[in-house]
Amino acid sequence: MSNLTSFSFPRPVNTVQGPISYEDLGITDCHNHIWIDPVPGVDPNSPVLNQFNEIELELIEYKKAGGQSLLDCQPEGCGRNSIKLMELSQKSGVTVIACTGFHRQKYYPPQHWLFSKRAQKVCDFLSTELETGMYETLELERPLKAGFIKIALETAWGDCPQAALEGTAFAAKKTGALIEIHTEKGALAEKACLYFTDNGVSPNQIVLCHMDKRPDYGLQNELARLGVLLEYDTFYRPKYDPEKNLWPLIDHMVENELAGSIALATDMAEAALYHYLGDGPGLHSLPTDIKTKLQERGISDKDITQMIGGNIARRLAGII
Ligand SMILES: [Zn+2]
Repeated sequence: MSNLTSFSFPRPVNTVQGPISYEDLGITDCHNHIWIDPVPGVDPNSPVLNQFNEIELELIEYKKAGGQSLLDCQPEGCGRNSIKLMELSQKSGVTVIACTGFHRQKYYPPQHWLFSKRAQKVCDFLSTELETGMYETLELERPLKAGFIKIALETAWGDCPQAALEGTAFAAKKTGALIEIHTEKGALAEKACLYFTDNGVSPNQIVLCHMDKRPDYGLQNELARLGVLLEYDTFYRPKYDPEKNLWPLIDHMVENELAGSIALATDMAEAALYHYLGDGPGLHSLPTDIKTKLQERGISDKDITQMIGGNIARRLAGII
């Protein structure tokens, strides 16, 4: 039998409430965290987000401000709870897309299986989560599918889990799924692009995260022209001096007609950044404060729409 169904374009986007058209995603935060269960055996200072009522209020506020969708970037084994994601999505009306994949090893209990298994096992696991259902929902009448792959790189390539990387490449090639790649301040961005494209993954399937922490214009241009999507998210992180780094980088990319290669996010993995949990800017800052600042810089509505939703939506659907 041919694989035509899974490779027809545009593909439906798998959300925690079922498949929808990419055209219905609207304003989308392409990298966030709305639930993280505590993980036994890891550093007690690892982030936890498990206060249901406050998170629900946060999502309702996001929705009221015009936010429609978000990608939750916590994979299985380090605090993902897709049942909670589904309940939060149902209660708030925000479309939530969950991920499979792997985070940095420090967020898992020692000897977690993902880091010791062979590439094929990792590929099978990711493919099952994308095509059949996420592990914790397999017993449900209708298992919930992951909508993309999220993985994490370390600073040095030799420290990255090689079999897990290889398994990710197999799974992305097989399923056509998008891979969001956490980089340590942009490190290994070029290496990761070469690695995945050499292994048969299309540049259109690759999102490089936290790239505004490496505002090297030459590199940014080159990566954009290669066809990968660049994710920026330090709007509320003073230590990265967004006025000096992130905002001029956005201006540069827009002026060079590369707005189609950028996706914006707020990546609020820490409760302190939440409005209802820590008196921070909150999830709703993307459709309010950030959108307003983009308009004030004279960026066109078309480019803004792409950067805060359109670009990630098309990539999830397998088109650019
Ligand atoms: Zn993150």
